[in-house]
Amino acid sequence: MQAIGRQPQRAPDGAPLHYERHRPEQTTLYRLVQQHAASFIARTEASTGSELPQFIKAEFDAFLECGILAHGFLRLRCGECGHDKLLAFSCKRRGFCPSCGARRMSQTAAHLVDHVIPHVPVRQWVLSLPIPLRVLLAAQPELVTPVLQVVQRVIPRHLLDDAGLRADEGHGGAVTLIQRFGSAANLNIHLHCLVLDGVYRCRGDGVPNFVEVGTPSDNELHALLQTVIARLMKLLTRRGVLIEEMGQTYLAEPDDGEEARTLRPLQAAAVTYRIAFGPRAGQKVLTLRGAMPREASARQSLCADIDGFSLHAAVRVEAHDRKRLEQLCRYITRPALSDERVQVNAAGQVELKLKTPWRDGTTHLVMSPLEFMQRLAALVPRPRLHLIRFHGVLAPNAKLRPLVVPQGPEVQEQTTEVAVADECETETVHSRPHRISWARLLKRVFDIDMQHCPNCGAGELKIIAAILERPVIEKILTHLGLDPQPPPRGRAREAGQDFAT
Ligand SMILES: [Zn+2]
Ligand SMILES: [Zn+2]
Repeated sequence: MQAIGRQPQRAPDGAPLHYERHRPEQTTLYRLVQQHAASFIARTEASTGSELPQFIKAEFDAFLECGILAHGFLRLRCGECGHDKLLAFSCKRRGFCPSCGARRMSQTAAHLVDHVIPHVPVRQWVLSLPIPLRVLLAAQPELVTPVLQVVQRVIPRHLLDDAGLRADEGHGGAVTLIQRFGSAANLNIHLHCLVLDGVYRCRGDGVPNFVEVGTPSDNELHALLQTVIARLMKLLTRRGVLIEEMGQTYLAEPDDGEEARTLRPLQAAAVTYRIAFGPRAGQKVLTLRGAMPREASARQSLCADIDGFSLHAAVRVEAHDRKRLEQLCRYITRPALSDERVQVNAAGQVELKLKTPWRDGTTHLVMSPLEFMQRLAALVPRPRLHLIRFHGVLAPNAKLRPLVVPQGPEVQEQTTEVAVADECETETVHSRPHRISWARLLKRVFDIDMQHCPNCGAGELKIIAAILERPVIEKILTHLGLDPQPPPRGRAREAGQDFAT
């Protein structure tokens, strides 16, 4: 949700600030989607003769309504001074909405630190895949689960060995974030596993005792990656996805459904930094170099590379360093895009700024607006694809789970806040999600306070109404001098008008 209020009063020194007045319809990303989404959908469908999947079209629609007061809002009021504030509804989508992505990141990271990850050292294990497998997992996301199971057997086995324990003597635990994109908003499905850096061993009285392990050596890491690859290849071959013939391995041609004809080219292009449809189809996305090329750095330690696979395990967070743990959780749950990174140049092309320049000095990718829409579409995950998974003692039904997870701060929800807290549910589908009230979350992350009115500083803001009906919306917004009409949508334009860069 985005908030808008009367002109905020200056907060007294040191007091948390009032919300910024946020106008999503004025961001470059919003304007691009507003102007080009309809054309993108129409042209993709015309050029493939197939319908773009509904979940992708719905994502564009929902994004255009996200944070727009004219589509409905909550009305908040200070119990002390009567100060009013309006809070627009958000789209809560997982594809490319920067504000919902940022809020989900904060919520998820806070949840993991407060309620999931025990106070023990944690090591991040990152598995990246070769490009053909990224394309495969984008097209068949159900394969992510068995791939992850392979990883979550190999790493705990290693930890048990290192602790000198048999499989039935100790229990590991991990949380995996399935990241679907890279720094260039390219589709790059890879796994970030936060693995407890040791194992729990139950004492006679049943109380689990954490046994720390040492840092893996580069040789061990290399051997672990080799095991992962061998098991993945076996698994994918057994599932008929890979075909082994005369010592060569091929990807099997999948059954092409209606959906696959539009989706697969989009995904494949987004994986390889190419353009899916239109006059430049198949070409590489243009890049801008604004930074000095870096020397190819010496081989990183604690990073194994084999045949396009890589396993990275250099990041470890100490048990007491919960702040750094939360930063790491935020990093791995960050959204694909932020508003600041999307710009339009004088020629009307989209310039997407990279989070960090590539080694060759590339700082920006340059695309036509419709090519950019292709990139956005590829980022949208299939509905019901769970991007966070819990393993071992952290699995929702694990016997030891209640004994090891942190208890977290007490959450006291008021009935009026429950609806708002609902907004920020974490994707912890398997477990009962602990919800954090919006008020507490905003305070925690942005240092914004809903418990102290920005006007008088004393009262607490309460939700007094949800405004959803057009006539009421119009009446209130007009009264406040705000635009009562939703921003207009751009219509689909004919091919040739603006497809070329
Ligand atoms: Zn949104
Ligand atoms: Zn007040």
